Amino acid sequence: MLKGKSAIVTGSTSGIGLGIAQVLASQGINLVINGFGEAAAIEKERNGIEQKYGVKCVYSPADMRKPEQIREMVGLAQTSFGTLDILVNNAGIQFTARTEAFPEEKWDAIIAINLSSTFHAMKAALPGMQQRNFGRIINIASVHGLIGSKEKLPYVAAKHGVVGMTKVVALENATSNITCNSICPGWVLTPLVQKQIDDKAAKEGISVEEASKHLLGEKQPSQRFATPEQMGAAVLFLCSDAGSSITGVSLPVDGGWTAQ
Ligand code: NAD
Repeated sequence: MLKGKSAIVTGSTSGIGLGIAQVLASQGINLVINGFGEAAAIEKERNGIEQKYGVKCVYSPADMRKPEQIREMVGLAQTSFGTLDILVNNAGIQFTARTEAFPEEKWDAIIAINLSSTFHAMKAALPGMQQRNFGRIINIASVHGLIGSKEKLPYVAAKHGVVGMTKVVALENATSNITCNSICPGWVLTPLVQKQIDDKAAKEGISVEEASKHLLGEKQPSQRFATPEQMGAAVLFLCSDAGSSITGVSLPVDGGWTAQ
């Protein structure tokens, strides 16, 4: 059902976005990948996806802090593939500090990349989806879109905002064949989380393995990291016909974190 459709996955040069891009490509979906990194590594990823899955894959260097570049990224999908069927807003950054010590420039960056970019991308993508009466928008929020954790104020604010925007877009398009949902991952072992583990190990004078166990032990009852491929599988389900009546939800994929 999804073969030949087209998708953008923002922040797909690493971690969860890369996993999602690969799962979508494995179903014959043409892709716009996006994110930062070394030009050679990005080209290896792009070419590797085309070779492995026999789909078209183009790269957009759009910076998610720049609305004009986000609009260009959506335009690139439309000119490359004729349509944009699936939009996965995944790019995100993290920074941790207590509120009274939180650097203001980090607030600005987290809000721009984790929250505002999702608005700009949805705004640019929706008219085309409405014209063809098909669209799947999946916003990668977080358990922090549903609950809080200390030292993550801008991230928690941004992710709660993403969950809220998801509901509004779902409602505005409810009578059409356009759905909008969020996925709320718990801990997934990616560079974004590895940095938090390394910082914790350094701060508490413990090994990286111990820090990793503590991190899971504090929050994630499964005591296991979820994987980028599992996030891809959840995205795929929401894109499929089986998921077409699901809209406006924020689905935790969190090993029980938010069940507590
Ligand atoms: P990651 O650091 O591995 O990847 C982030 C991606 O975003 C990279 O491709 C990076 O180049 C891109 N990016 C960063 N700033 C950008 C910008 N200004 N413009 C364009 N691209 C930019 O992180 P990840 O863990 O894979 O996180 C992906 C998403 O999942 C984020 O939104 C994050 O908040 C969310 N998330 C992650 C976890 C986790 O445990 N890893 C948990 C919950 C939610």
